[in-house]
Amino acid sequence: MKVSEILKTKGPQVFTIGEEKSLGEALNIIVVNKIGVLIVLNYEGQISGILSERDIIRASYENQSNYLNLRLAEYMTKKVIIVEPEDDIDYVESVMTTNRFRHVPVISNKILVGLISIGDIVKTQLNEYRYENKYLKDYISGVH
Ligand code: AMP
Repeated sequence: MKVSEILKTKGPQVFTIGEEKSLGEALNIIVVNKIGVLIVLNYEGQISGILSERDIIRASYENQSNYLNLRLAEYMTKKVIIVEPEDDIDYVESVMTTNRFRHVPVISNKILVGLISIGDIVKTQLNEYRYENKYLKDYISGVH
């Protein structure tokens, strides 16, 4: 299955934030929307990083009570790894496993068109296994 097929069901919505914002503002968006990452944009609207709940935890650990007012740009990951709509889910899974992260933005013609999380991949695989399981059961019991 391809990334584009997951996006068809999930939709293109991606939560973003400006790179000049604080960790407190980022935390608020993450908590209110029950998400795990924000794509960080520069003044030109281009991707300049990705900020995950893990980055905020690290900032709070290193700065204790002071971290909410810090600039998020100091804690985001600047080298963002992306995938494309035509990429296969198996490839996305290997990218996540190799790099030890759970989110990856989807870019098409330099435009942000979605975001895939490890949860989306698990859900897709579960549906595929269920379908395969039902097909095999029907086959064994002579439905086909
Ligand atoms: P996550 O597991 O996605 O919450 O992220 C774990 C760490 O990897 C954090 O430091 C993120 O900033 C970073 N990260 C998450 N997704 C990506 C990505 N697609 N490219 C580069 N770094 C990422």
